Amino acid sequence: MKVHYLNCGTFHPRFVRKVLGPLADVPSVCLLLEDGDRLILVDSGLGTRDMNDPGRLGFPNLMLNAIPDLEQTASRRIESMGRKPEDVTDIICTHLDSDHAGGLSDFPDARVHVSQAEYDAAVSEDRSRRPSYRRCHFAHDPKWVTYKDTSGEDWFGMECIRGLEGLPAGLVLVPLPGHTAGQCGVALQTDDGWLLDCGDAFYAAEELEHPRAAVRFFARLAHDDPRSARLQLARIKKVIAEGKGVVTVLASHDRQGFDRLSGD
Ligand SMILES: [Zn+2]
Repeated sequence: MKVHYLNCGTFHPRFVRKVLGPLADVPSVCLLLEDGDRLILVDSGLGTRDMNDPGRLGFPNLMLNAIPDLEQTASRRIESMGRKPEDVTDIICTHLDSDHAGGLSDFPDARVHVSQAEYDAAVSEDRSRRPSYRRCHFAHDPKWVTYKDTSGEDWFGMECIRGLEGLPAGLVLVPLPGHTAGQCGVALQTDDGWLLDCGDAFYAAEELEHPRAAVRFFARLAHDDPRSARLQLARIKKVIAEGKGVVTVLASHDRQGFDRLSGD
């Protein structure tokens, strides 16, 4: 599978830009996988409707400050590659916050793969608990495919979900709860080893080494369960250490990682 790294929504968070450096210009990274004739997305970024009407992102966007740009949406980027949005048959969501699920409605026929825990938190239950879940992003009634069985073979020592419906075996969900109730990393086998898209388990590469106090503070604010998020970060560091040369790690808003992997 050929992997494209797409920024499908840039944020310029208000109030924090001077303090945070690497978090000041924030991409929303989606992976676009070419699997024969079909396309698979990992996360959908912001959608065309969000770019036309940022009010769809709710009050969190008052601080996060999405930069409206239709050309950044996954559907426009796919068209600019000479492909059709209809070629996207499947979307795997790390979680269902607005910056990951906003583009789902641009691909209404695609199956949307997500953990059962995340579906329950974002779609089934009272969404008022987490303002980043936006009802409008699910109004087209996506073709959900949900998962909870982690009993299969582990992935580099981490419990995981294999056998995603209709998807290649080299795609694996790795539960990383903490940022949200059911967030999963998406592990992808490539010619060069494994890539683990960690979603929002961390924001900036410096969190994997020696994060500044301000980075730790703002990252903590974003997580539903900061203690669990800290545990996931420790697990990710362990995988990086033990899978040296085999596992590459990326997070959805990690500018440094995105620039390195996308060649920008
Ligand atoms: Zn996010």
